[in-house]
Amino acid sequence: MGKRKSKRKPPPKMKSVMPLDTQFNCPFCNHERVCEVKMDREKNIGYISCRVCLEDFQTVINYLSEPIDVYSDWVDACETANAT
Ligand SMILES: [Zn+2]
Repeated sequence: MGKRKSKRKPPPKMKSVMPLDTQFNCPFCNHERVCEVKMDREKNIGYISCRVCLEDFQTVINYLSEPIDVYSDWVDACETANAT
């Protein structure tokens, strides 16, 4: 019987020190990394806009929100719009 080492990844200890990615692919024009997110932490609003096709979107954020959340809200909203 061989010893079985349990393969557990050590939990990431680092806190996210580096700035999070704020550039995403555009769901409208499909260009890569052309949508930039801005987080207005005072107003609790996240803005995203595409610098190619100029589509934009804003959504409510909270203190836990990250740019990716704004982006995925946008994509969700696009899909909802497309579904109707
Ligand atoms: Zn675009």
